[in-house]
Amino acid sequence: MHTTTVQSSQANQDLLERFEAVRGCRHHFPLLRQRVNGKPLVYFDNAATSQKPQVVIDATLRYYEEENSNIHRGVHYLSERATQAYEGVRVKVQHLLNAAHQREIIFVRGTTEGINLVAYSYGRTIVGAGDEVLISAMEHHSNIVPWQILCEEKGAKLRVIPINDRGEIELADYEKLLTSRTKIVALTHVSNALGTINPVKTMVAMAHAHGIPVLLDGAQAVPHMKVDVRDLDCDFYVFSAHKAFGPTGVGILYGVTKLLDAMPPYQSGGDMIKSVTFEKTIYNDLPYKFEAGTPNIGGGIGMGAAIDYINEIDLASLAEYEHELLAYATRGVAEIPGLRIIGTAREKASVLSFVIDGIHPHDIGTILDDEGIAIRTGHHCAQPVMQRFGVPATARASFAFYNTKEEIDVFLAALHRVREVLA
Ligand code: PMP
Repeated sequence: MHTTTVQSSQANQDLLERFEAVRGCRHHFPLLRQRVNGKPLVYFDNAATSQKPQVVIDATLRYYEEENSNIHRGVHYLSERATQAYEGVRVKVQHLLNAAHQREIIFVRGTTEGINLVAYSYGRTIVGAGDEVLISAMEHHSNIVPWQILCEEKGAKLRVIPINDRGEIELADYEKLLTSRTKIVALTHVSNALGTINPVKTMVAMAHAHGIPVLLDGAQAVPHMKVDVRDLDCDFYVFSAHKAFGPTGVGILYGVTKLLDAMPPYQSGGDMIKSVTFEKTIYNDLPYKFEAGTPNIGGGIGMGAAIDYINEIDLASLAEYEHELLAYATRGVAEIPGLRIIGTAREKASVLSFVIDGIHPHDIGTILDDEGIAIRTGHHCAQPVMQRFGVPATARASFAFYNTKEEIDVFLAALHRVREVLA
């Protein structure tokens, strides 16, 4: 008994030390030092976009100051240097996701473009009249609309896996929807509106048992957890750099070679070709076949610096710390009369969506902004989720590892004031 107590107090001490190390990272983010409306900024809109550490800002600046040049084309010093730096990022992403090959890493503009690429290129070759595309009821619009357009064009049907009142997928409902008509499953790894972490590894295995490929939308997963695409065994995985401490305008589509190889180009032009005559164009090999035109080179290099940064922090401690923040905030908001949390899944990332009786979420957002607190209000690009829970909008606080319990205290006090002023 005594040994157990000593061990558990040692474990608590270790946890505190690891949390202290995570919290110590806050000073790497210069933007967080500012005041908004005369108050210290409390940035709780991390699911929309994360802040950037100084190393990412410096790497992007350095590219423009010292390396700026177009890639893949030049024989001169600068072009070779920029090409090396940019292609080096592909290798970093390969390792980050544990992909088998560099050629499976395609630079895109972000999650949205990655999904569109798969829907337009792969979708158009495999989906026909009477077929089905399966998504879930908690998808972001970017994982709904491209499939809807595809289905309309092909005379196919968009089927939707329902979610329960906690905002979770019931695997029995999912299983029933996997049929010989299903041509692809497109599923979010973590919901931006509810915070739900889906059991994607199981869901991929279930789809594969029917021979159905799976695309995972990792926009909200990569910033919070270790993602291993080979362990998940997914066919496609997409994410945006800007939600994972990197710049805007750049992201990644991972795809397994077998599928990418067989897919037609999505966009065409320079860089995606081997040779062009007026009679015929021979396309380039992977990954370049899907990378037409000059990419966001500076952004890509910034993403590389963000990946180096992520690799240096301990992702497991980070996830535990964020979980602690979420639990603390969840306990705190439970004391606010009339407040209802939307999204109470058992497995959740650090997203707290809520409504308060009789108060419009936009009014909550405005009052919090007066206090220097940035949260998101609206439908979070997931209108079907709002419809499922019968609300027009929610207020959403989303945490990153640089946030603190002290900030949550400020947020909770402001929410109490919102009630006093508006209820
Ligand atoms: N999917 C999810 C789950 C998201 O949260 C977002 C961004 N809110 C997107 C897709 C779209 O990402 P982006 O706007 O960076 O393309």
